[in-house]
Amino acid sequence: MLDDMLDSLQQIRQRPVWQPADEAVRQLFLSGLPADGAELPDLHDEFMQNILPYAVGNRHPGFMGWVHGGSTPVGMLAEMLAAGLNANVGGRNQIPLEVERQVIGWMRKLFGFPAGASGVLTTGTSAATLIALITARNVALGEHPVASDGMMNSDIRLAAYASEEVHGCVGRALSMIGLGSGILRRISCNHRHQIDLMALQQQIDMDRASGVTPWLVVGSAGTVNTGAIDDLNGLAAIARSCGAWFHVDGAFGALAMLAPEITPRLQGIQSADSLAMDFHKWGQAPYDAGMVLMRDGEQHRRNFATADAYLQRETEGLAANSPWPCDYGIELSRGFRALKVWFTFKSFGSDRIGAMISHCCRLAQALAARVEMEAELEMMAEVSLNIVCFRYSGDQSLADAQYDSLNRAIIRHIQLSGTAAPSLTRIGGRAVIRAAVVNHRTRMQDIDRLIDATLDAAHTCHSEPTGVNREFN
Ligand SMILES: *Cc1c(COP(=O)(O)O)cnc(C)c1O
Repeated sequence: MLDDMLDSLQQIRQRPVWQPADEAVRQLFLSGLPADGAELPDLHDEFMQNILPYAVGNRHPGFMGWVHGGSTPVGMLAEMLAAGLNANVGGRNQIPLEVERQVIGWMRKLFGFPAGASGVLTTGTSAATLIALITARNVALGEHPVASDGMMNSDIRLAAYASEEVHGCVGRALSMIGLGSGILRRISCNHRHQIDLMALQQQIDMDRASGVTPWLVVGSAGTVNTGAIDDLNGLAAIARSCGAWFHVDGAFGALAMLAPEITPRLQGIQSADSLAMDFHKWGQAPYDAGMVLMRDGEQHRRNFATADAYLQRETEGLAANSPWPCDYGIELSRGFRALKVWFTFKSFGSDRIGAMISHCCRLAQALAARVEMEAELEMMAEVSLNIVCFRYSGDQSLADAQYDSLNRAIIRHIQLSGTAAPSLTRIGGRAVIRAAVVNHRTRMQDIDRLIDATLDAAHTCHSEPTGVNREFN
C-alpha cells in the first residue's frame, strides 16, 4: 500500500490534474453497509481504481484552483504514525500534548505573540475563527453570563468590520455565535484590494454615533481572492483606539512570515488579539490542520475550560498535565494533528519552507508576466503574493457578460482537459480566471502549460458555438 502511494506521488505529473468520475464509479458508492468483511488487498485495489484517481488533484503541480496545499510524503508518513499511535489529544499526561504545545510555541514566537499567549490546533481556519470569535464575544459581553444564559437578555449592539474581500468563514462564525452575519460591515478596498482604512474609520465613527459598539476588526493576511495583505499595523491602531478586538485571518498568508522578503508586509500581525491560520495550505501538511493563536491565554482558557467531574485534573498520574487542549477549543476527543505539522517543520526546516513560499510567489509573478505578454489575456488584479487573477479578453466583439460566460467556459474546459486546474472568482463583478500557486511541486513548465491551456480553451470554446451559446443565454 505504501509503495503504491509513493509511486502515485512520484508519477503525479503523468496523470491528469483532475478527472470526473463516470457514472459506473459513482454507482459503486451507493451499495449498502457490508455485513461481511473483505480482504485488505481487495479493498486496496478498490481504493487504487475507484477512489485515488478521482480526488480534487491538489497534489498535482498543475493544480492552482482555490488555495489548496500539496502535502508531502513526510506528512503522509507522520499521519500514518499518528493513526498507528491513535492518541486522543484532548488532554491527559502524554507527550503528544507536548508536541502540540511545541508547534504552538513555534508559531507564538514566529508571530511575535507574548509568553502568555495560547493556541490550539483545529481542522482549519474556519474552526480557528469560530474559537477566536467566541472568546471575543464573551469578552465583549463582559458581565453578561452568555455561557449559561445565552444571548437572550443581552441588549448590547455590536459591530464587526472587515474588508469586502474577507473570507466567508468570518460571516459564518458570526452567525454561528448568535451575533448574526448582519453585524459585519464590509468596508471597501483600495485598488490593491486592501481594506480602506479611512472608510473603516468613518464607518466606526458612524456606528459609535448611533450607539453601536465597535467590537471586532478583522484583517486579512492574504485574501482568498487576490492574496492582498491588509495594512495590519493600521488596523491594529484603529482597533486599539476604539477598544475593538483585532483578529487576523492568516489562513494561508500568515506562514509567508517565513519568507524574508514578505515578512515586513505582515508587520502588525504581532498586535493581533487572535490569529487564525492553516498548516494544510502553504505549510504543506496533509489535510486537515489549522490553528488559532490567542494573545491572552488565560482569557482563552476561561471561555472553553471544562468542569465535568470525570475530566477532573490531578497533579500526578494520567489526569495531570493541565491545562489541556480541550480547555481551549470546541472538541474533547481530538486526533494527533500536531504530529504531521511537527514532522513537516522538523523535516524541512523553516528556512526551506520559507524558500518554497518565496518560490510560489516568484512563479505567480512569472505567470503575471506571461499574461501581460499575451495580447489576448488581461491581468485583473495586482499580484500581491501567490494568486494571479486574469482573463481572456481577446475578442473585441464580445460584451462584458459574454466575456464572463466565455471565461467560465474556459475554466471548465481546462479542468476537464486535465492539464491544469485554475478556478473561478469575481473581481469588480466580473468573472475571472484565478490561479493560486500553493504547491511546492509547481514549476515554470506548469505555468507555461496553464497559459497554453487557457489560449487553447479560449479558441476551442469560441469555435464551438454550442458550448458557448449555452452559457450566453
Ligand atoms: C482557506 C481560507 C479560509 C478557510 O480556512 P479552512 O482551513 O478552509 O477552514 C479562511 N480564510 C482564508 C483567507 C482562506 O484562504
